[in-house]
Amino acid sequence: MSDNCLFCKIAKGEIPSQKVYEDAKVFAFRDINPQAPVHIVIIPKKHIAALASVSESEESILGHIQVAASKIAAQFPELKNGFRLVNNSGADAGQTVFHIHYHLLGGRSFGWPPG
Ligand code: AMP
Ligand code: ZN
Repeated sequence: MSDNCLFCKIAKGEIPSQKVYEDAKVFAFRDINPQAPVHIVIIPKKHIAALASVSESEESILGHIQVAASKIAAQFPELKNGFRLVNNSGADAGQTVFHIHYHLLGGRSFGWPPG
């Protein structure tokens, strides 16, 4: 837990969220400002600031998040034809909350490259 981290507080239930998945290491909830019909934020319970600052000791949690993303996607019929998993690392990428998180987006088609 990092003091005053919004996503640490959401993972601990101190700030309410619309939870869609939880296990020992991961918490996932609906984005408050959805960019697609399905927009889920997936976070590790452990505080890590950004993908840019991970170390090799965090390899297993990063893999765990991807497996969790696949399980979460399977919960949503809207994602049966595809989904996108996005990490914004750093200000230039658009990261606004500095607790590492992955956006699971779907229910519409997306362009490439992203803007
Ligand atoms: P990023 O811009 O990649 O750092 O993504 C942060 C995301 O967190 C944005 O899509 C926000 O809409 C979302 N967000 C911020 N506060 C909340 C909240 N209290 N509950 C759910 N999602 C949130
Ligand atoms: Zn945090």
